[in-house]
Amino acid sequence: MRIGILDVGFDNVTLDEAVSAARGFLAEGGSHCVVTPNPEIVYMCRTDRALAEAVNGADLVLPDGIGIVYASRILGRPLKGKTAGIDFAVRLTAVLAEEGRSLFLLGAKPGIAERAAEALRTANPGLIIAGTADGYFKDDGPVVARINESGAQAVFVCLGAPKQELWMRKNRNALQASLLVGLGGSLDVFAG
Ligand code: UDP
Repeated sequence: MRIGILDVGFDNVTLDEAVSAARGFLAEGGSHCVVTPNPEIVYMCRTDRALAEAVNGADLVLPDGIGIVYASRILGRPLKGKTAGIDFAVRLTAVLAEEGRSLFLLGAKPGIAERAAEALRTANPGLIIAGTADGYFKDDGPVVARINESGAQAVFVCLGAPKQELWMRKNRNALQASLLVGLGGSLDVFAG
């Protein structure tokens, strides 16, 4: 049961529960998307139907920001807490390393994803980075092909919001990875 804030339904889960759900998605295979909308995206969903569909069509919708949690309290259906994208990403990379599953990093300016990969491997020995690609491409086809050829089971899609939510919605069926996560500027953070 999701908790609605304006036009977006959020999953009422703790960070631990969100990570467990992601573990389940990876074990299950198929195609799953995780999004972490902040208040700005929630607001954009009021007027952008395609974005609202992309966000609400995700398998896990996590509140990125305490503002969403406060709003849920004011509306009388409190969310358990914020589950920021970056915190989710940190926990998920540990799970991927532990389970020997591979990760593709998509997004940010040229060179950033490689630096993020290096940092994530240092933090999680054994983490398999299947590949990286910057987020400034014209056609989706070659990028989708490259991700599929890498054999990645999870993809961090870091194209900024709302671009990444729309991109995941459009390409999820063409991608073989079982878990796509929209993570905004996270690669810049990991790259340092
Ligand atoms: N970005 C990208 N392709 C684009 C536009 C943006 O890869 O066409 C990247 C940008 O380089 C940055 C991230 O998306 O790494 C957006 O970060 P920001 O913090 O602005 O977005 P948010 O986290 O607020 O969604």
